[in-house]
Amino acid sequence: MTALSDSSELRRVGRPVRAAIALGGNLGNSQQILPAAVQAIDQELGITVVARSPLYKTAPVGPPQPDYLNACVLVETVLTARSLLSRLLAIETQFGRIRQERWGARSLDLDLLLFGDQIIDLPGLTVPHPRLHERPFVLVPLADIASAWPHPIFGKTIAQLLEQLPIAGVKSSVEAIASPQSP
Ligand code: ATP
Ligand code: CA
Ligand code: CA
Repeated sequence: MTALSDSSELRRVGRPVRAAIALGGNLGNSQQILPAAVQAIDQELGITVVARSPLYKTAPVGPPQPDYLNACVLVETVLTARSLLSRLLAIETQFGRIRQERWGARSLDLDLLLFGDQIIDLPGLTVPHPRLHERPFVLVPLADIASAWPHPIFGKTIAQLLEQLPIAGVKSSVEAIASPQSP
């Protein structure tokens, strides 16, 4: 758990914001790492996990590498989007993430998919995640826990984005596996 460095990490007004986070990994024991990462997220000050999808086994995208496990969680947070992402990047490091080639194998990837209805385009922080709408390995688990959430740019819900994926065959490469834990 990380203490808040100063009050600039907190949003100034309002209730907690709901955010969606994607988890993925294909190095090490992903079936243990992903649930442990969810627990680590929930233990952060100012972040509460309120829903989690099952784990899915998915075909890799990018260079040849093992299959992935993927999942999504919803959180409520009083942190800013930037602080939330920096917590997620720190948790990746804690679980042994090393960045080598783009889209290469990794022990843990945590992507900030959605932050309320906000659209953010800053260096190092783009929300909604710019590729979420084209990825079955994100949309399938996200639809389990946030099917009615409207994408702030496209105006379509997660369920609609999933239905409209152009490459229908890709959906069959996403296979649910038992998820041993609940939040
Ligand atoms: P992709 O973004 O296509 O899923 P990736 O997850 O493999 O690829 P990373 O190497 O994990 O990419 O991330 C590269 C950088 O993207 C991170 O250092 C982070 O600062 C930045 N970034 C910007 N917006 C986001 C976001 N919404 N979620 C996660 N990382 C983000
Ligand atoms: Ca990613
Ligand atoms: Ca990432």
